[in-house]
Amino acid sequence: MPELPEVETTRRGIAPHILDHQISGVRVRQPRLRWPVPPLQQLLTGHRVRAVERRAKYLLIRFGHGTLIVHLGMSGSLRLARHDSPLRKHDHVELQFGDQGLRLHDPRRFGALLWTTDDPLLHPRLRTLGPEPLSTGFNATYLHARAKGRKTPIKSLLMDGHVVVGIGNIYATEALFRAGIHPARASQRISPQRLETLVAAVKTVLGYAIERGGTTLRDFVNESGEPGYFAQELLAYGRAGQACARCGSTLTSRQIGQRTSTYCPGCQH
Ligand SMILES: [Zn+2]
Repeated sequence: MPELPEVETTRRGIAPHILDHQISGVRVRQPRLRWPVPPLQQLLTGHRVRAVERRAKYLLIRFGHGTLIVHLGMSGSLRLARHDSPLRKHDHVELQFGDQGLRLHDPRRFGALLWTTDDPLLHPRLRTLGPEPLSTGFNATYLHARAKGRKTPIKSLLMDGHVVVGIGNIYATEALFRAGIHPARASQRISPQRLETLVAAVKTVLGYAIERGGTTLRDFVNESGEPGYFAQELLAYGRAGQACARCGSTLTSRQIGQRTSTYCPGCQH
């Protein structure tokens, strides 16, 4: 599933190719994604992309008259291709920019394309979201206030988009490992100092993943797109049964909040 680093990498990958470019046409092959695809041909043809932004895992492609909100769902990716190259299976929508096309590929069709003429940050899908994890708004004081009185496992709190956006299973697992905090620990029982360590770990892990282009991304911009190097550097995620890099104990996993969580019983408490 694309997580925040993949979406940010996608944004950085596509922006130079579409920013200030005019849409020459739109092809909608599959109008039924998670929600019905709006009439993009009529809405976008002839309009110029003014900005390519990201909020949480939503890409915001801004035009003068509105914003296209893109969510990649479980399996979506965006890819630039020459307009005359054949569409692949599951290439559902193509925004055409002259001889280039930006194609939404999404085998499971949980992705979404939404159109709004209002401030996209006030869209019902976006307006209740928590702060960006890499922003100054996500800090130890903030997290402490949100953890107060909450028995929720810290891992579930981190993955709650109303608390902080864009921290999926991989990055929550890694950040908790680095901070030495057990993923099932009740949020309210973690000291402000340890929360500070955790916030720093979240920023480090996400920042590093963005730098490396995300973990799961294959081809956000072209066929030679550099795939996720970061996956090879995960210390906890996907490593149950292996030795902990820090203390040598065997990493274990269990279900927390319906998600598999891998952690070290030796050094995460
Ligand atoms: Zn350990």
